[in-house]
Amino acid sequence: MTPARSAPLSLTEAGLPACPSVAQLLRLVVPVPISATCQEVLPRFHAEAGLLSMPVVDAESRPVAIIDRHYFLEFFSRSFSKEIFGRRGLDHLLGEHRDALIGAFPIAKPIVVDIATTIDDVARIIIDTSMRHMVSGVVITQDERYAGVVHGHDLLHEITQRKQAELHYLAHYDALTRIPNRMLFSDRLNQACREASRNDGEVALLFIDVDRFKQVNDSLGHRFGDALLVAIAGRLLDCARDCDTVARLGGDEFAVLMESIQGAADAEALAWRLVESMRQPFQILDREVTVSISIGIAVYPRDDGQVDILLSKADAAMYEVKVSGRNGYRQFSAATTSFSLERSSLEAELKQALVNDEFVLCYQPQFDLASGQVVGVEALIRWIHPSRGLLNPGGFIGIAEESGLIVQIGDWVVAEACRQHRAWLRQGLPALRLAVNISPLQFRQPDFIQRISRLMSETCVDPSFLEFELTESTLMHDASLVLDMLGELQAIGVHLSLDDFGTGYSSLGYLNRYPIERLKIDQSFVRNIDRMPINQSIIRSIVALAKSLSLQVVAEGVETEAELALMRTFQCDEVQGYLCARPMPAAAFSEWLRARQAEQADTRRCGSVAV
Ligand code: C2E
Ligand code: MG
Ligand code: MG
Repeated sequence: MTPARSAPLSLTEAGLPACPSVAQLLRLVVPVPISATCQEVLPRFHAEAGLLSMPVVDAESRPVAIIDRHYFLEFFSRSFSKEIFGRRGLDHLLGEHRDALIGAFPIAKPIVVDIATTIDDVARIIIDTSMRHMVSGVVITQDERYAGVVHGHDLLHEITQRKQAELHYLAHYDALTRIPNRMLFSDRLNQACREASRNDGEVALLFIDVDRFKQVNDSLGHRFGDALLVAIAGRLLDCARDCDTVARLGGDEFAVLMESIQGAADAEALAWRLVESMRQPFQILDREVTVSISIGIAVYPRDDGQVDILLSKADAAMYEVKVSGRNGYRQFSAATTSFSLERSSLEAELKQALVNDEFVLCYQPQFDLASGQVVGVEALIRWIHPSRGLLNPGGFIGIAEESGLIVQIGDWVVAEACRQHRAWLRQGLPALRLAVNISPLQFRQPDFIQRISRLMSETCVDPSFLEFELTESTLMHDASLVLDMLGELQAIGVHLSLDDFGTGYSSLGYLNRYPIERLKIDQSFVRNIDRMPINQSIIRSIVALAKSLSLQVVAEGVETEAELALMRTFQCDEVQGYLCARPMPAAAFSEWLRARQAEQADTRRCGSVAV
């Protein structure tokens, strides 16, 4: 269709090519009056390269012919001369070629349209009325007003072009988020790497995975999950530079391609911005949710000269971030290679570890700062791996969470900690508070409360000795459900504390709503605090906040005397850290506690007690 050619194919908001109505298209091409001069008509063809033909109308606006760009331009240039140009009218031009032109573009039966008729409709009318060989036709509206002329070839061309654009779009863009998909991304990546090798440049590839997305999707539904992915894509786009390609590789995996970077620091800077951008909660379907992302970075050609290997290296670096606690970024390094080889076997081995009873708990004491007494103990899991030896949770908790195995492992931890607590009581040790870490996925199991109640009765432990350490991310979902569950735990008698406080991104509003008794200040704020004035202010503020809400404060990771002294100054209630005691196996802990008690009894006889 003639006018359609002049209208560029546009992508609608939905990302698909627009399907213009005939009326819309015809508005774009003003018919040429038969009396028009060449001078009046020619500039329009010059100005609109896509305009192939224009309808010619008589004084009553009845279509009489079509000026075809090629015919017209060819004819015009052939007969062009200074005298002709500007003097001879179109009528005159048509006069000479009238029969040829009208013969070439016979005016067929009118095609009736209304305002909503699309090109596809017109095409269907042409096919249905067996007019497929029609070269052009007059379009009239239902009240018989002339609406323009369709040109058969153009119409077909237009439809093919649009279908092609649509197919191209579907093949290269993600239907949900409307950003490039894996195919387009790898095209661009290949192209960028070729360009970089020509110019001695570098290209960075950021592989992004949304942390715990599966759990959000499973617990809040796919509609929610989809909307969240769209919102995440939007944030990624906001942070990336205009020249970067942000793509969805599938599921909850995204990637960013950064061309012409000035070194890996550029990629790190973007990765940092992306991670930070997730701090703000998302408002999705009337809910507030916070997610974090893990990013692996690989740089071409530094990390690999082969593009597909580059992608898997960025993926491996991303997985390292997952395993070391998520919510961050990491560059690929030589160490990552061996890690990624191990990763798949690790998941299978974790399953086996439960069956083979390869986990143990270590216990780290918590001290009251004022009295110097051990007031609690935190159970920390270890894996005695058959070939790798002792593994700390940093090496496997991430995989356990990603694979869902943490639920069974978590059950084992609660049961084992309770069993140990009873054993200590039987051995005559004091009844200490026993803290157990609860993973967000474990907490979100619909039968979490029943499982805990069952474990309590099976192990015959007084629940009031038990404290669950929850993280802020656990409390971020579905506030009313969380409130109910915390209430039920409180009713059972279990105490609640907030672990790694200060590293989450939640609003502080929940602190006075939820029955939490203790805040554990994350060790990143405690570390080197004597040299970091900003962390001093943070801890001061956390303590002030906690006091105003009548919460106890525990400082984690106290390693030096200087740190301990400052925790006293800031009036933290309790401390936990290597300076005072490292995590110990159960037997070592009971021995240590007995020795300490004996020592304290001696000291008390001679004077003061110190942490
Ligand atoms: P967390 O709950 O914050 O535990 C404290 C971690 O800090 C422990 O590491 C502990 O050994 C370490 N730590 C304590 N004092 C110091 C210190 O002075 N300096 C340093 N550098 N580190 C100190 P661990 O045992 O490696 O556990 C790491 C994390 O793994 C825990 O952080 C917790 O989030 C998770 N985790 C441990 N056990 C379990 C478990 O049974 N279930 C779940 N879901 N997570 C667990
Ligand atoms: Mg903890
Ligand atoms: Mg902690």
